[in-house]
Amino acid sequence: MQIGIVGLGLIGGSLGLDLRSQGHQVWGMSRNQTTCEQAVTIGAVDFASLDLDGLGCNYFNTDLVIVCTPIASILPTIKAIAPHLASTTIISDVGSVKSAIAVPAEKLCDRFVGGHPMAGTAFSGIAAAERNLFRDSPFVLTPTKNSDREACEIMRSLWVSLGAVIYECSPEVHDRAVAWISHLPILISAGLILACDRESDQAIGQLAQNLASSGFRDTSRVGGGNPELGRLIAENNQTALLASLKEYQQVLQNLISQVESGDWQSLESSLQQAHQIRQLYSN
Ligand code: NAP
Repeated sequence: MQIGIVGLGLIGGSLGLDLRSQGHQVWGMSRNQTTCEQAVTIGAVDFASLDLDGLGCNYFNTDLVIVCTPIASILPTIKAIAPHLASTTIISDVGSVKSAIAVPAEKLCDRFVGGHPMAGTAFSGIAAAERNLFRDSPFVLTPTKNSDREACEIMRSLWVSLGAVIYECSPEVHDRAVAWISHLPILISAGLILACDRESDQAIGQLAQNLASSGFRDTSRVGGGNPELGRLIAENNQTALLASLKEYQQVLQNLISQVESGDWQSLESSLQQAHQIRQLYSN
């Protein structure tokens, strides 16, 4: 297939590396010229440019374009490229939120099918691109009732070929599920970091920083990540995120009450429950 990737960063670059190794011809588009050049150099794309006209290939009949820009640029990108592509071209995306993108995107392109690879690293940009990033990781295909079924099956086969484990659900269901395991943890983890910083005794705060080890590194990792990504996720998945935050508030209040009243038996039961439930989330 001829495949286009817009947004040559961690996800777009990694996708390009794997798609090319499967024999697809891949063109790329990104915001910076140096990124385009680097993407060609590392073999993530066959050629790349800042715009369609600069690609120097016949892009009109591209089979599939996958938009891998930051969330805020996904819809503007689809709006900009869709009129220049054949009506048969499938457009997809990899954004971490789906409802806010799917409905407007379907108005811009007849063959839009959204998706979300549940894979990543702590790094960003084309330099962070790596092969086999999606192998054995979940990929969520998020069609709506209007989606072209053939386009969905092409997307499914493509991600299967990259080694991903495919799930399919509506954009709304995706956003509710991902709020629990991805978006809520970002805010809880950020809250943990901000709470630690409230220690009023400077010497104790300093000692805590010196003693912080693997446990704190694990629990603070997602909260200490890219602030812009966290904000975009919250803005674009506000309803589901708020619902999960309110549930979390109740659970936290319950734990506070158990500690405050010295109800150690109940606290241990809560921790025992957490210990068992956690196994359900360990893939
Ligand atoms: P990233 O490493 O920052 O890559 C995004 C790239 O897009 C940037 O390097 C930038 O390249 C380019 N870009 C920015 N604005 C653009 C525009 N208007 N037009 C064209 N290119 C543009 O981010 P990422 O982690 O790959 O995330 C990309 C998407 O994947 C996001 O929508 C995110 O929600 C989703 N996602 C991320 C993860 C994750 O764990 N990171 C996982 C699943 C899904 P230049 O260098 O050219 O500026």
